[in-house]
Amino acid sequence: MSAALASAPLSEPLPHTAAGMAPAALPMGRDDLFARLRPIIAADLAPQVHKIDHEGIYPEVAMRSFGQAGAFAAHVGAKPDLVTAIEAMTLAGEHCLSTAFCIWCQDALGWYLAQSQNAAPREALLGKVAQGQLLGGTGLSNPMKSFFGIENLKLRGRRVKGGYEVSGGLPWVSNLGDDHLFGAVFELADAPQHRVMAVIDCSREDIVLRQSTHFLALEGTRTMAVNFRKAFIPDSMVLAEPVDGFIKRIRAGFILLQAGMAFGLIQGCINLMRGTEKGLGHINRYLPEQPAMFEDALAAMRATVHDLAVTPFETDPAYWRAVIEARLAAGEWSLKAAQAAMLHAGASGYIVGAPAQRRLRESYFVAIVTPATKQLRKMLADLDAK
Ligand SMILES: Cc1cc2nc3c(=O)[nH]c(=O)nc-3n(C[C@H](O)[C@H](O)[C@H](O)COP(=O)(O)OP(=O)(O)OC[C@H]3O[C@@H](n4cnc5c(N)ncnc54)[C@H](O)[C@@H]3O)c2cc1C
Repeated sequence: MSAALASAPLSEPLPHTAAGMAPAALPMGRDDLFARLRPIIAADLAPQVHKIDHEGIYPEVAMRSFGQAGAFAAHVGAKPDLVTAIEAMTLAGEHCLSTAFCIWCQDALGWYLAQSQNAAPREALLGKVAQGQLLGGTGLSNPMKSFFGIENLKLRGRRVKGGYEVSGGLPWVSNLGDDHLFGAVFELADAPQHRVMAVIDCSREDIVLRQSTHFLALEGTRTMAVNFRKAFIPDSMVLAEPVDGFIKRIRAGFILLQAGMAFGLIQGCINLMRGTEKGLGHINRYLPEQPAMFEDALAAMRATVHDLAVTPFETDPAYWRAVIEARLAAGEWSLKAAQAAMLHAGASGYIVGAPAQRRLRESYFVAIVTPATKQLRKMLADLDAK
């Protein structure tokens, strides 16, 4: 193991600064950022949501514009501002969960790079990822399940000169393309407890992408199967080795950032419910779940998540439990809000192309993407058993 790559103590600030990461000459206050994002959403995203959902169109134009506007930069500076990142994702998620998920993928990639102790990938890639010049995601679903005793790691490597040779496959990695990047974890064939995390460059010939599965929602997220064919991963792309301390460092941020998907989806469902009030309010008022209930729940979840997101490196077990509980609530409220939106919309929500049925299909994703509801419940049960 290289000493330079060993994980730093969890509470220690990392040696890099935000210099060069934020798009140059842009005011970086939260309100300035949101003021730049809203017209992009109106022009490049809102008119595309049906195509993204129905035709699987990848929202690349919007993603590049979000990056230029600074949407992927707030959480990767010297003082990580996860709240701004979450709320930027929320703005997009209000219209489209595929896009919010692509933003999360991009944010997760930036998060790994920003937290790495290896200067090489950070210096080469972080600025471009933060500005959306390089797009990509994360193949951490399998490792996140593996670290919590649910399944074995799917990638295996061996040390070779100047790096590692890695084989295996990941069934689903999103926000990918031929020139995209993603974070992945592999174990060493001769020492399975020794796990390494690296950034994978999809443009390599020994990394093969295949888009063979189609999904009932999130089809526009460029979700691919990735095959590692004795892929060479140079030391300059290694994020952490061994990975254990690094995973502990990034895990709360990884999970909390996902709140942006839930908040956006729930807000979108509230908007749909409110939108029916004029024509159907006289009858919808008999439904037990009203938009005000979701507004209250959303405000409470926001307050909790914002609090937690201020200290993503906190090591207290009570903090970790609160993060898991917040993530569980986000998934469960997403399901409830989408179901309520369907009931408020009535028959018009059941038509192909109607936003309510799209939001319903999207909502399940918040609850099944890693860490899925069942994994979160296992994690809580494991904490209880300690
Ligand atoms: C649209 C979409 C996008 C996703 N994007 C990403 C991503 O960017 N990065 C990432 O790491 N993960 C991604 N995933 C995987 C996701 O995070 C979850 O791991 C997945 O939904 C299953 O989680 P689970 O805990 O319910 O496992 P289960 O559904 O219980 O599955 C257990 C295991 O079987 C595998 N599996 C189940 N069905 C199949 C199948 N048909 N083919 C191959 N393997 C299968 C699962 O991957 C998992 O490892 C994506 C999934 C979907 C549906």
